[in-house]
Amino acid sequence: MSRVLHRGQILHFLDDPFKSEAGNRDGGESSGDNKVNDSYAYFADGGLLVDDGRVIAVGEASQLLSSLPHDTVINEHADALLVPGFIDTHIHYPQMDIIGAHGEQLLQWLDKYVFPTEAQFGDFDYAQRVAKRFLKELLRNGTTTALVFGTVHPESVDAFFTEAESLNLRMIAGKVMMDRNAPDFLTDTAESSYSQSKQLIERWHNRGRLRYAVTPRFAPTSTPEQLKAAGRLLCEHPDVYLHTHMSENLNEIAWVEELFPHLDHYLHSYDDAGLLGRRSVFAHCVHLSENEWQRMAETQSNIAFCPTSNLFLGSGLFPISMAESCGVHVGLGTDIGAGTSFSLLETMDEAYKIQQLQGHSLTPFKSFYLATLGGARTLDLEDQLGNFLPGKEADFLVLDLAATPLMKERIAHCEDLFETLFVLSTLGDDRCVRETWIMGECMYQRDAHETHVPDAHLTQSATS
Ligand SMILES: [Zn+2]
Repeated sequence: MSRVLHRGQILHFLDDPFKSEAGNRDGGESSGDNKVNDSYAYFADGGLLVDDGRVIAVGEASQLLSSLPHDTVINEHADALLVPGFIDTHIHYPQMDIIGAHGEQLLQWLDKYVFPTEAQFGDFDYAQRVAKRFLKELLRNGTTTALVFGTVHPESVDAFFTEAESLNLRMIAGKVMMDRNAPDFLTDTAESSYSQSKQLIERWHNRGRLRYAVTPRFAPTSTPEQLKAAGRLLCEHPDVYLHTHMSENLNEIAWVEELFPHLDHYLHSYDDAGLLGRRSVFAHCVHLSENEWQRMAETQSNIAFCPTSNLFLGSGLFPISMAESCGVHVGLGTDIGAGTSFSLLETMDEAYKIQQLQGHSLTPFKSFYLATLGGARTLDLEDQLGNFLPGKEADFLVLDLAATPLMKERIAHCEDLFETLFVLSTLGDDRCVRETWIMGECMYQRDAHETHVPDAHLTQSATS
């Protein structure tokens, strides 16, 4: 019998808070301590009923308990908030060991730090060791799904998917396509990138919970022929993803103008090759023009907003209100290794500051939406993930509301859910993730002793 009722405070989103009053502090219908409205549901004493890896029901614990058989297993989560697993919409697993590389902006940073480290991922065993550490770090931070860059080597993707499959994670990844303006040891050709990507799609796409993303690094490192080869892959496999970077840094944008002099703007280089669409995710989009915003919206293309990376590389301030007014889906990305934290809680904190610098006040409801349902929409995974509607895959987190002495005191003084969530995103990090559950199985326990959990499961001591 795998049916388990998880009891605790529960929050999940039903829509973008921007569209409803829930984005405001006082929005929503109250019934006792609970709040339910168009964009989210919160249960102060909630129950999440999970069976066979999927959500069966969510609601008030007392109501669920009254209808369940007496022998139903109940898992109590005291002083904790249960939320859907966090979704990281842009991250590079091969770059986890260059986090904190000092002193450069995008183009010099790539040459000086990224390309040398990526050169090692042609070795499957090396790539597998890094992938294993990377996935443990994701679970330790409460990230249960991610859109992931490999390197130019097909081995990097084989290694990543092998490890992701062993943990039963829903992951999307792809081999980098890069046929110019990079060192010889990291380039492919339009034709070899096409055939290698095609083989990887056939091997991994839709295998269990895994999906493939066609992954040109960015327009400066792909010839128009290679971008067209990427477009051919999307035509031949209409349900694979497209994952790349766009409009991150002003020097990068000027370089794209030089490389594609006949095109109107940066986005045009991808549009020309047929790379836009509802399964296309563009990281950054910090400096888009009006026309580019309009074209993103028309094609239902998506954006990964990467706050810590944009600050670390000095790239600029992403205007989330433009995405809201244009109706473009946005998710949060850590963009490790230009990003500085695996934690989406810390990423929310920096997202708030970036919007403050533009005179826009990001609400904590919006931040938690971005990390959950917003991420699922950005990755076209809303049917599988992102909230606790019945039938969804049971990937969820138990967040500790008293993870540090400071948080415990501060949150005890919060007056409402809005304030609690905001403090959680301001002070929170990996220490708040008490447990990470994947398809109804506990895969990470912060406080567990190694001997108390099965080998396949991850503990704090196993990751250190
Ligand atoms: Zn990136």
